[in-house]
Amino acid sequence: MSTTQSAATLFQLQQLDLELERLTAEQQALANTLQGNTQLRKLRMEQAREQQELRAGLQSQKEAEWTLEELNRRLSTQEQRLYSGSISNPKELYTLQQEVQHLRAQQSRQEEMALEVMEAAESLQETMSRATETLQQAEEEWARSNAEGILRRDQLETKRQELQRKREQLAAPLDAELLKRYETLRRSKQGRAISKVEQNSCQWCRVILTPSELQRVRVSKELQTCSNCGRILYYDR
Ligand SMILES: [Zn+2]
Repeated sequence: MSTTQSAATLFQLQQLDLELERLTAEQQALANTLQGNTQLRKLRMEQAREQQELRAGLQSQKEAEWTLEELNRRLSTQEQRLYSGSISNPKELYTLQQEVQHLRAQQSRQEEMALEVMEAAESLQETMSRATETLQQAEEEWARSNAEGILRRDQLETKRQELQRKREQLAAPLDAELLKRYETLRRSKQGRAISKVEQNSCQWCRVILTPSELQRVRVSKELQTCSNCGRILYYDR
């Protein structure tokens, strides 16, 4: 392989490596996204908490209603006794009147309380419905973006394998020492070990090559490097 061919191959290799880097970065970002979603976990927890509060609210409502029913029953029984005319003993009658009065007051208080508890439960029901709706939307959106993400992940992996194969083919005829030099340089030069010569200057750092440097890039048996940035120069004729 001639020097020019080597430089050209290295340049192609560099293009592939840059593409592979971009691909790997996207794969990593995607893997992080697919791993989990904090927002969704938060919404699930919120909805579970609302559900628990609603259950407690409904239980309070039931208890208040039972107490009221019990009071209603007792009141109705005692009122029947009071108005049936079956009790003639004045003292007994008085006691019964007192009890009925007391029960009416209790009933009225309990009715208010039952109403309050019922309103509270209704409000909890609304909060819970909203939380459920929000969660459902988030879950659906998550499933959708997940499906897209999984599809994208597979596409990226196929593409990566394809690029990797191309890279191996491209690198195969290159001298091992040269490849090593390329890899080392790539690490210290932001992934760019090779720079094209364009309009008589190094494309990367823009330094203008002297006529003799230009001449060497074109004909020398050795690969030439930029005197300014140290990258291997590639002349595309
Ligand atoms: Zn340069």
